Amino acid sequence: MVKHQQDHARCWVEIDLAALERNLHKIRAALPSHIRYVAVVKADAYGHGLAQTATRLMQCGADMFAVANVSEAATLREMGSGWPILVLSSVLPQEDDDLFAVNLIPTLSTLAEVERFNLKAKDRRKVLEVHLKIDTGMGRLGVWHEDVQPILNALQSANHLKLDGVFTHFSCAPTDPDFTELQRKRFLDTLKIIENQFDLSECLIHADNSASLKSFNRSSPFNAVRVGLLQFGAAPYPDSLFAEVKTEPVLSFHGRVSLVKTIPAGNPISYGRLTTIARSTTLAVLSAGYADGIPMPFTNRAEVLIQGNRCPVLGRVTMDQLIVDVTDLEKSPESGDIATFIGTQDEGQISISEFSRWGKSIPWECFCSISKRVTRVYKTFRE
Ligand SMILES: *Cc1c(COP(=O)(O)O)cnc(C)c1O
Repeated sequence: MVKHQQDHARCWVEIDLAALERNLHKIRAALPSHIRYVAVVKADAYGHGLAQTATRLMQCGADMFAVANVSEAATLREMGSGWPILVLSSVLPQEDDDLFAVNLIPTLSTLAEVERFNLKAKDRRKVLEVHLKIDTGMGRLGVWHEDVQPILNALQSANHLKLDGVFTHFSCAPTDPDFTELQRKRFLDTLKIIENQFDLSECLIHADNSASLKSFNRSSPFNAVRVGLLQFGAAPYPDSLFAEVKTEPVLSFHGRVSLVKTIPAGNPISYGRLTTIARSTTLAVLSAGYADGIPMPFTNRAEVLIQGNRCPVLGRVTMDQLIVDVTDLEKSPESGDIATFIGTQDEGQISISEFSRWGKSIPWECFCSISKRVTRVYKTFRE
């Protein structure tokens, strides 16, 4: 009999790399063909595993990668030298040496950064490619869109820097189309100012993340998109935003029933006595808790699939275990049976959207919270 990694795991995620590849192709197909695909793989590829997912994305046609910091970029660089890597966060001075050693593209937002990187590049007798970030309303990184002139002048006279990209980031793409449009307009206006001094035809111009792809402006000068969540088959809420690009879930999350027992009506379940059962209840103790990435707000509101059926969570989520009500299942589960937190089981299905709503969180955070203790199992076959 074939042995699988998950046979011995108490909890694991399955990551379907073939689905990831299909998703990339679907997103590509929905965009004009000249648009470059920047795969955002920060935070260990949203918990999906940087090495495995980035390797697959390289094989199936990602043009470029974006990560949060130099350390993630260094890991990614081990996998291939042919892909430009953009560091999305502001680079710390402590990271500068590695930035050059690993050949990365920093995101610049301030005059001080322009001066610092120009000097460092000069020391190394190099010309460093940089992306300039414009703050059009996110209020985080980037030069404020009305204040670009001094930084443009500095960039123009920085002989050791080459402006290779200009970008912005939307703050409310899933929830506020009007503000997103305002940000787009501010960005386009800023590009016109930049064009007075720089040849943008050689530059990567990008703004869109997963949530704004729906309103991607085909006639605009944008020539790249930065895709994170959507390539992993998850939609920012509400799901309907993505009617046109139906990507499929890449990750499913499972644990096991570790113990089944029946206790009489009137008794409390789990820490803090937040739940008292009204009837004689058969409960299953599951082999995952908040230390694995089951959100604490699951307490008394979430559901888990066992035998393809939804079983309600009873009482507080604990560090290593979770308790569900299995009284209504046709057949009592047994120790070792699979419990699914995200994914499908027979007719049952729980999406990352539903999981994150129960968790009073967002899909991005829930993916990142699936902890190291959870075994990653990769499916690599093509269908
Ligand atoms: C994380 C990130 C993205 C990707 O966002 P998704 O919503 O996951 O597609 C794009 N751009 C920047 C600047 C980011 O930090």
